[in-house]
Amino acid sequence: MKKKIFSAIMAAAMVMSLCACGSNTASTAPSEKASEAPAASSEAAASESASSAASEAAPTGGKLVMATNAEFPPYEYHDNDKIVGIDAEIAAALAKELGCELEIEDIAFDSVIPEVTSGKADFGMAGMTVTEERKQSVNFTDTYASAKQAVIVKEDSDISDIDGLTGKIIGVQTGTTGDIYASGDYGDGNIERYSKGMEAVQALSQGKVDAVIIDNEPAKVYVSENEGLKLLDSAYAEEEYAICVSLDNKDLLDKLNTALAKLKEDGTIDGIVAKYIKSE
Ligand code: GLN
Repeated sequence: MKKKIFSAIMAAAMVMSLCACGSNTASTAPSEKASEAPAASSEAAASESASSAASEAAPTGGKLVMATNAEFPPYEYHDNDKIVGIDAEIAAALAKELGCELEIEDIAFDSVIPEVTSGKADFGMAGMTVTEERKQSVNFTDTYASAKQAVIVKEDSDISDIDGLTGKIIGVQTGTTGDIYASGDYGDGNIERYSKGMEAVQALSQGKVDAVIIDNEPAKVYVSENEGLKLLDSAYAEEEYAICVSLDNKDLLDKLNTALAKLKEDGTIDGIVAKYIKSE
């Protein structure tokens, strides 16, 4: 009888810990972890949160916290007071599969991985490219999108291909693969970093930089919204996007992969992508 009650508690604890922020804050977590809960939760509340139900001091049982940077259309961006986009919708579908409530935290892109490794967020989803370097600090799920690093220039620019970038001033978003690759290829001195991709694009329009290297889909949105800009035909790099999870949360990683496979299989992901990206 005792055994039965114990296993029922364990089963409940497992369900709780899957949805609870970082699994660290589950009320049923081992005591040394539980002591971290108040600090983690109050910091989450302090950060700019998309949900009005931002974490209180109490553990966030039943919630799956996603860290993102909602300045990245069409993957995540603000639509009035809501965060919408491909990632936001896929994340909502994943949370539903896992039986959790989704909470989206909007932070700087280069804070997404630290937010996940510290356990303040359960996963990061931010049009994030899988790289070997990032794999040292987080696990990535299976990929859910292919992407490219594109180059935006002014319509009358003398830069006509990737080779033309040598010696030019390139605008990037801090901490992105565009930043990492371009710093390596063209030297730190030729790179101007901005906290938002849109700010890099505005700097291009104002003639402060000669080109912007940024992911292809946001690049298309920015070019369509700002006059006098164009995309180079050739891409700077090919990439894959995936969701990042803490290295010690294998359970969540597996569950996300299973749910992703289902959503790929049943057409949910294609349907979400088609809503935001019109095929050419
Ligand atoms: N895909 C790029 C990266 O992972 C940029 C992502 C972003 O700016 N949200 O670095």
